[in-house]
Amino acid sequence: MTRTPLLFTPPSASPALAPSAAVLRGSWYGIDLGAIRHNYRQLRSQLPPTVRIFACLKRNAYGCGASEVAKALGDEGADGFAVASLLDAIAIRGSGLKQPILLYPGPGTSSAETIGALDLTVTISSLDELEQWCGALPTLRIFVKVDLGFFRAGATPSQAVPLLAAAARRRNVKVEGIYAHMSEFPGRRHDDARDQLDRMQKILRGAASLGLRPEVAMMSSSEAVLAYPDMDFDAVDPGALFFGLSDGDRPVRHISLRPALKTIAANLVSVKRIDVSLGPTPDIFGLKPGMTIGVLGMGWGDGMPRQLPSTAAALVAGKRARLLGPVHLEHVRIDLSDVPNARFGDEVVLLGRQGSQSISHEEACRTWGTDPIGLYGQLRDHVPRIYA
Ligand SMILES: *Cc1c(COP(=O)(O)O)cnc(C)c1O
Repeated sequence: MTRTPLLFTPPSASPALAPSAAVLRGSWYGIDLGAIRHNYRQLRSQLPPTVRIFACLKRNAYGCGASEVAKALGDEGADGFAVASLLDAIAIRGSGLKQPILLYPGPGTSSAETIGALDLTVTISSLDELEQWCGALPTLRIFVKVDLGFFRAGATPSQAVPLLAAAARRRNVKVEGIYAHMSEFPGRRHDDARDQLDRMQKILRGAASLGLRPEVAMMSSSEAVLAYPDMDFDAVDPGALFFGLSDGDRPVRHISLRPALKTIAANLVSVKRIDVSLGPTPDIFGLKPGMTIGVLGMGWGDGMPRQLPSTAAALVAGKRARLLGPVHLEHVRIDLSDVPNARFGDEVVLLGRQGSQSISHEEACRTWGTDPIGLYGQLRDHVPRIYA
């Protein structure tokens, strides 16, 4: 007997099969595009008008959605974007944006066709990369990347000018810029940033003396753009700042940032009172016989930590209630003892406001066991984002 596989064929006209993001899962993130626009304007107002802004939207715009964030920033006048993943570049081009997109180190030459079709600017850090990319694409737009002391991707300062010279000799290569990622290690020496700036200036002088100074020199991410205005050069590529994050401890430019992540919420997917028919109550912290518990449609597969501190709480029906670890892949328990009117389907807020109560970023960071940028890093792409 042959079996016909049961294949699901969606009737294309049914709206039930194209549900809005909010109902796709029992959880969602609220993203404030107004805050992102505000943060952009704050930065723009502090920069000389000649300095371009390449908005770094890596990791799906720090979890906030590259396509929507790029549209908002494109609207505000962003000169370009920078990403490390082709998925993010595809999302930005998919929004119809035509600004330059700089591809940080990431995709290899097997992605050349996509990179050509999306008209991306490729990062080159070595002669080998230059040779491989020249072989992979008929014409190439590049930024040369230099490592000024971060010990990550990029040509060393001594390799930078020879690399620019080699690129200039290739007829199919247009060198549009040179860039670095100014970053300081924890516990760095006081003048570490100055040393990085000196190295960049020396490279640019060396390049200029050979007529090889690219049009765009860029080295400031969020920390540097706020602390070191003399690193502006021709363009800056901050990212975190647009989402309200700034970890600089000695800003010179004072701007007021607003957080882009406004809400993390999940619905109660189950509510019940524990009774003796369940057997002995397990010795998981917080569970007690007779307690009413709820289950949230969010778990460690959605970016939550696997273990929760005993202080972890969420808001439901306008009240604070304890979250009960451990966290499961798509679920976590909540103690509803003090919220007797909570019902299946109710919204539970893990970050943000509900009624007169709120859970701050600081509190959410303690629950998540991370810092503010880590919280954005834990946002998952499959959780629907609701924009306001
Ligand atoms: C991440 C990154 C940035 C942006 O850094 P923020 O701290 O988010 O502003 C800039 N340049 C490079 C190369 C990066 O990797």
